[in-house]
Amino acid sequence: MTRLVGQAAAPGLALGRVVEWPAAGGAAVHEAAPPRTLPEALEQAAALLRELRERTDSAEARAILEFQVEFLGDPALLEPALPLLQQGSEPATAWCAAIDAQIADFEASDDDYFRHRVGDLRDMRARVLAVLAGQAAAEVELPADAIVVADDIAPSRFLATRWGPRQAVVLRGGSPTAHVALLARSRALPMVVALGTAPIPPGSTAIVDGGAGTVELAPDPQALARFEQRRDALEQGRRAAERSAAGPARTRGGERVQVLLNVSDATELEGVDPALCDGIGLVRTELMFAEGPPDEATQLAAYGRLLHWAGGRQVVVRTLDAGGDKPVPGWSMPYEANPFLGTRGLRLSLRQAEGFKVQLRALLRAAAGGDGLRILLPMVTDAAEVAAVRALLAACADELRGAGLAHRLPPLGVMVEVPAAALALDRLGPVDFASIGSNDLLQYTMAAARDDPRVSPLADAAHPGFERLLGLVVQGAAVAGIPLSLCGALAAQPAQVPRLLAAGLRSLSMPAAAVGAVKQAIAGWPAAPHEPPAGAG
Ligand code: PEP
Ligand code: MG
Repeated sequence: MTRLVGQAAAPGLALGRVVEWPAAGGAAVHEAAPPRTLPEALEQAAALLRELRERTDSAEARAILEFQVEFLGDPALLEPALPLLQQGSEPATAWCAAIDAQIADFEASDDDYFRHRVGDLRDMRARVLAVLAGQAAAEVELPADAIVVADDIAPSRFLATRWGPRQAVVLRGGSPTAHVALLARSRALPMVVALGTAPIPPGSTAIVDGGAGTVELAPDPQALARFEQRRDALEQGRRAAERSAAGPARTRGGERVQVLLNVSDATELEGVDPALCDGIGLVRTELMFAEGPPDEATQLAAYGRLLHWAGGRQVVVRTLDAGGDKPVPGWSMPYEANPFLGTRGLRLSLRQAEGFKVQLRALLRAAAGGDGLRILLPMVTDAAEVAAVRALLAACADELRGAGLAHRLPPLGVMVEVPAAALALDRLGPVDFASIGSNDLLQYTMAAARDDPRVSPLADAAHPGFERLLGLVVQGAAVAGIPLSLCGALAAQPAQVPRLLAAGLRSLSMPAAAVGAVKQAIAGWPAAPHEPPAGAG
């Protein structure tokens, strides 16, 4: 038996046979006639991506595909190819010259944002070449127990594959924060990345542990027995979490804890029982509107669907948090040397005041149509920003009044994710509630970029500096007399729940899939003496 260790990218266990990617039979002849010119090929490739985007249910996946469609539609992309085409080069040769120059630029960039998109560019290179050859990527069929091994998998190829419950993915390269890892987690497909170049023979039996980041090749009988035991334990844990998900969350002492959902789109709530939670604690509208903010009526309808689902309970809609690692076409800054410290979140919205007002008007109108709506501002740093939003809200209310449209001013809250705001929450001016964005608060407190796997281990919530800051935020909310929640990834990690409850938090917001396990951790808090802490293991 050989045990290989990589990095954990998506949890879960799988036992199966190794299939090298791309799987045989992965390409099929495209029915349309091959394009004659390179611009036609780019248009066909973009059309295929748009088709894929229409069939995709995840807002994050749609954002990835949207980036590719936008990129292929940029006229500047073909500029290096034009002289070659004029000199009589084949379209495929000219395309490779153009895209390879872009790939080299992205690879050499100091900016993580561009380096993380190199995989997308390679994907587009292959897709356009396939279209030029009269072939379009077909859906890949894999054996039910396939352990797919690849150097890397492009997001669009991942999305074009029908993944089954017994499969897993092992990448020689990649990173846990890459888009494809995010997609694997959202599909509960075990994934190990950064495994290196050790040989993994196709056809061999393998056990993949996506939570531990390990691959066992040709497992011996003991390893197979361990696999069975762990799989049974995971299944039991999953069933127990499902049972805990049903009732309201209470601590061991009977204290009620509010459990809210994070969503990026109403489609994520299809099939989710509203009784699972106390409402929606975070709507990430920048993922909802990945193609750019739509008009007021479209936004109004989208917020209305969420309010309807919540049935009068709170729905906290965050205004666009574009920029940083979440560019929104036509909205965010085209280039920034340090996007996480740049014009993102509320800073960007205040610079795009007319577009921002479209969102605010839609929110004011949605608030009139359903109880429970609240507006949450991302990346707030100081009181002047909150005052500026209040002035815009007043202007929007005037406009709506003038147009005879029903509206209401809902509660206005702030995300606590910039350390300066965390240290002075009670000084941000009159606000109605606050929610800690622990993903950003951790990266800014620890000076460790959240999308860089080399430094992300530093972003440890157990650091005394972060614990102290969390305590100050809880105190600041008490001084200001406002409700406080936490909606970053820490709220979805059962092992972190005791720390959050001990800091004084009594409201947590998380993806629906985490609710059962988090409620279990809440029920076990505080741990009795000699008991492992709630959520451990
Ligand atoms: C956060 O920063 O914790 C948060 C919830 O916002 P996002 O992850 O969207 O930046
Ligand atoms: Mg944030």
